[in-house]
Amino acid sequence: MLPTLYDAGRWSARGVRVTLLDSSPFLYYSGMVPEFLGGVYDRDEVRINLRRLCDRAGVRFIESRAQHLDPERRVVTTADGEPLSYDVAAVDIGAQNPGPLPRAIRTKPLYHIEALEDRIRATLDRPRRRLRLVVAGGGAAGVEIALNVTGRFAHHDRSDALDLTIVEGSDRLLPNFPTSMGDYVAGLLETRGAQLETGRLVEAVHEDAAVLDDQRTLPADRVLWSTGSVGPDLFEDAGLVCDEKGFARVTPTLQCMGFPRLFAAGDCATVAGHEALRKVGVHAVKQGPVLRANLELALSALTAGQAPHAWPLDTFEPYWMAPLIFSTGAPEGLWTAGPFWLRSRSLLRLKHVIDRRWIRRYNPVWDDAGPFQLADATAATM
Ligand SMILES: Cc1cc2nc3c(=O)[nH]c(=O)nc-3n(C[C@H](O)[C@H](O)[C@H](O)COP(=O)(O)OP(=O)(O)OC[C@H]3O[C@@H](n4cnc5c(N)ncnc54)[C@H](O)[C@@H]3O)c2cc1C
Repeated sequence: MLPTLYDAGRWSARGVRVTLLDSSPFLYYSGMVPEFLGGVYDRDEVRINLRRLCDRAGVRFIESRAQHLDPERRVVTTADGEPLSYDVAAVDIGAQNPGPLPRAIRTKPLYHIEALEDRIRATLDRPRRRLRLVVAGGGAAGVEIALNVTGRFAHHDRSDALDLTIVEGSDRLLPNFPTSMGDYVAGLLETRGAQLETGRLVEAVHEDAAVLDDQRTLPADRVLWSTGSVGPDLFEDAGLVCDEKGFARVTPTLQCMGFPRLFAAGDCATVAGHEALRKVGVHAVKQGPVLRANLELALSALTAGQAPHAWPLDTFEPYWMAPLIFSTGAPEGLWTAGPFWLRSRSLLRLKHVIDRRWIRRYNPVWDDAGPFQLADATAATM
């Protein structure tokens, strides 16, 4: 979505009214969030100020949720009840965690993690305070956050102030990654005093405890909900064609099936022919330039009176491999792709270079040159 904001400035000058609707004025960059919770980055270094980007691009920004979508009438209704009619719309609202429990802090959308950061800071600022944290979900997000939070307490010499337990439904951490990598991170976490509960699910969250499916109660001041990805409720309600997990099915041109004026990209969409792609930022970022180009082409075609089936749109081609680098709360990074993984200090340095380079395009905190450098936004990596 971010590359699109750059072009939106030019579209506004051509008389196109562009609106960005987002539940939060800040987009948190997931590549850096675990290390934000690990105390490596400040909050303003890991988030993008959407309102500010919109102001600069001449785009109207509305801070609200898209509550209802009517693709037949082409209307999006905000949570505040405002109807927004569109000629062309793009939905890039990410995924949601399956089965979120009301008292838990969700990882999707990511701005929710501020509540965890506040509690971590409050604990570290007061010598006698403790934090009992349960992480529900031992996949990539839960594990990377647990590694960083344990690393931060260790760095402050306050490991004794943290009781962290990861609860994972399958029989090991990182079930979608190489077994030896899961074993390695499990060892790291245990060395730092974390408890692992594998083969278990969190069934209930109370004010001061999480209840497991074997009815044991874990005392908890906070429960982080990082249980994977399912599609947003909005889509089924809108009657969009969705896959079995509720993600909108889109064509390789990122158009929703049966609604060519409605585009969807990123985690919330499943692209025909690429159904097995993981919901990771690497793929979402690669879709950005295609989305941007196709919105532009669709607007031009509409102005010329061309019917949607004749629109000359670009198609999305994913990377054949999407490697990830995990931070570990220590000066070491873990690189993984398919069945392979490696660990070294230089991998963490590489991750820092890639992450900072990516966010610099949108975040003036990282931009020594001053103003936003949006011109090369299409080259984004994650
Ligand atoms: C802790 C963590 C770490 C991760 N690390 C990596 C990594 O290192 N590398 C990697 O490739 N992937 C990583 N991922 C996955 C990555 O975050 C996602 O794949 C990526 O953010 C998807 O981008 P997106 O634009 O589709 O959605 P998002 O980044 O989730 O953005 C969705 C936006 O939509 C807004 N929104 C949601 N619902 C509505 C609504 N109804 N109305 C209006 N606005 C709405 C949200 O506020 C948000 O701004 C990580 C995920 C997590 C949770």
